[in-house]
Amino acid sequence: MMRLVKLFIIMSLSVSLSNANSPWIPNHQDEPIPLKFLQALDTALPVEPMVESDVKRRILIYSATNGFRHDSIPIGKLALSKMGLSSGAYEAVVSDHPQYFESETLSTFDAVVLLSASGNFFMPSHKLRDTFSQEEWLFLKKRHDRLLNNLMNYVREGGGLVGIHAATDACKRNRAYGDFIGAKFNGHPWTKNMQVNVVVEDPNHAINFSVFQGITDFNIQEEIYEFCNDIFSREHSRILLRLDPKRSEQPLPKHATKRLDNDYAISWVHAYGKGRVFYSSLGDNLHIFTDALILKHYLAGIQFATGDLIADVTPSAQLK
Ligand SMILES: [Zn+2]
Repeated sequence: MMRLVKLFIIMSLSVSLSNANSPWIPNHQDEPIPLKFLQALDTALPVEPMVESDVKRRILIYSATNGFRHDSIPIGKLALSKMGLSSGAYEAVVSDHPQYFESETLSTFDAVVLLSASGNFFMPSHKLRDTFSQEEWLFLKKRHDRLLNNLMNYVREGGGLVGIHAATDACKRNRAYGDFIGAKFNGHPWTKNMQVNVVVEDPNHAINFSVFQGITDFNIQEEIYEFCNDIFSREHSRILLRLDPKRSEQPLPKHATKRLDNDYAISWVHAYGKGRVFYSSLGDNLHIFTDALILKHYLAGIQFATGDLIADVTPSAQLK
């Protein structure tokens, strides 16, 4: 029976791959969103944009994974797409279809959101490796590299990127991608049930001021990442939020931190060529996407990425 099932899977995959116009596409089966989060979301959504714009903005939300798949992805997709309508700031296309990363299609969007897209996110899971021929796998690898380059070129030429949570736990062997998003995931010393203190590092920065309006720190229950020492740098990015380890629950010994400078940035922006990158590592827990303040933080980041919210991108290390 199992052999038959496997054969059927191989047949259906090879049928889909035999047509060069319709190669393998990500197809994730997520759990339904619990009702309490659906209700909480509706009361948390911003009802106006962070800044008004005369231009109709359109964003792409992509959350395919071939590494860890977060259970916050479905609520994230819903929250970010509903927030565009409730605030009037943008219209969202939510899709995991790689065809959206062809250059001509990318250029129709004002920004792309990588919502916890993890691993080599245009590739099938390695668990499926045996269901592809060598030739098919090579084809998909080449497609992955090409689409990732398309995305980086799109931003370099003036587009916007928004990375949320596991978007830094992606394409980890590709140094160019690490520089593009600004960091590479190196574990989460603070796990999802911990209470942590988040410092609004630059309260007068245009993105932060529009959201926090003078609040200098807040407490939240959330998983917090640390990043590899060699990629994340204040020389490169303008830090918006960071963790205060002293005012947060302490990581367990097995999750001891590895960051040499004790700098645990959570959110930042930087320029990438003519384009704009906003990243926030918040987004592990489902409740993050029903938190009115965090939704505004994302909205400000999205409006920065689309070019509506003008903000200083001078790297933090260069501030006097
Ligand atoms: Zn996580």
